[in-house]
Amino acid sequence: GYQKVQEENRKLYNQVQDLKGNIRVYCRVRPFLSGQPNRTCAVGDIDERTITILTPSKYGKEGKKLFTFNKVFGPASSQEEVFADTQPLIRSVLDGYNVCIFAYGQTGSGKTHTMTGPAELTKESVGVNYRALSDLFLISEQRKNTFSYDISVQMMEIYNEQVRDLLVTDGSNKRYPFDIILNGFNVPNANLVPVTSTSDVIYLMNLGHKNRAASSTSMNDRSSRSHSCLTVHVQGKDLTCGTVLHGCMHLVDLAGSERVDKSEVVGDRLKEAQHINKSLSALGDVIFSLAQKHPHVPYRNSKLTQLLQDSLGGQAKTLMFVHISPQPDAVGETISTLKFAERVSTIELGAAKANKDSSDVKELKEQIASLKAALARKE
Ligand code: ADP
Ligand code: MG
Repeated sequence: GYQKVQEENRKLYNQVQDLKGNIRVYCRVRPFLSGQPNRTCAVGDIDERTITILTPSKYGKEGKKLFTFNKVFGPASSQEEVFADTQPLIRSVLDGYNVCIFAYGQTGSGKTHTMTGPAELTKESVGVNYRALSDLFLISEQRKNTFSYDISVQMMEIYNEQVRDLLVTDGSNKRYPFDIILNGFNVPNANLVPVTSTSDVIYLMNLGHKNRAASSTSMNDRSSRSHSCLTVHVQGKDLTCGTVLHGCMHLVDLAGSERVDKSEVVGDRLKEAQHINKSLSALGDVIFSLAQKHPHVPYRNSKLTQLLQDSLGGQAKTLMFVHISPQPDAVGETISTLKFAERVSTIELGAAKANKDSSDVKELKEQIASLKAALARKE
């Protein structure tokens, strides 16, 4: 009865969202962790779409602030529930849409938990990345009589404005920074690995995490100061008419959004903070200039926005998971995080479009690409 109506409502709601092409913003509240003093909680009432933050007098007037998003997930929400509202977006990658999903929030607020999962992964605790890919395999299997899909992945890290390939297997841990090379589909020059099953994906994710960890010292966890991006490229061929679809999905675990007090940090730490500030504000600038329909969108201001270029904008579907901590001592960051996110959620980007080539266009594009490659070899 009631549950069914709710289910239907949700479907309708998702469809409407798809049509409007807004940036969707889902807010997720991390639970208190065991060992954390569970004195007072900075989060008040939560419902489907709103969240109240309780501000102690330390931050100005004591009071409540209400924020509205497309969806709010409370501290008890499961990985499965969080993914359920993301699923329609994932499916559209197989229809030739570009999708960008990113996790935003201060360090320790649960970004990696949402995208990857906790340190000890179980079937229940795996995050959006794994669920997204296993969904892609599942649906491509269901469609195998009408579509033939090729799926491949890349995994990259952006640290101090350098993009590095996380899918290297030579064991040397030498990871060379590289420039992003555009080849028509904005595929950076990082290993592009074909995958056909979830076990391939688990293998690659482990490899990526190992490579990422290899460069972090125990003292300062580098993962909080770099962005990591899992990119999925999908090519689908319609077996009846030969039309080819290209979908691309970026799954991004952003660096911590906390503002670092510049007077307190020096050396490497200051450099890191400046790079993070630069790339997160470049991301904001791109989003806001898309919203205002500026003819010039400043994608080239950071490696992050260059990498995401094809999946941010009028042609793409974008979802931001904004994460907050329930701790009262984080309330200052929490409010600035939610203010930014609420501004993002009001943005309308226009309807998304699929990347469809009829077979002859595809052939021409391939010819152009091979001519370009030949030219590049001559230079
Ligand atoms: P971030 O990536 O934003 O720095 P993490 O995802 O590493 O934060 O989360 C910090 C800690 O909180 C980790 O130990 C993580 O397992 C835990 N955690 C985060 N979100 C949740 C959640 N929704 N449920 C249970 N534990 C969580
Ligand atoms: Mg993290």
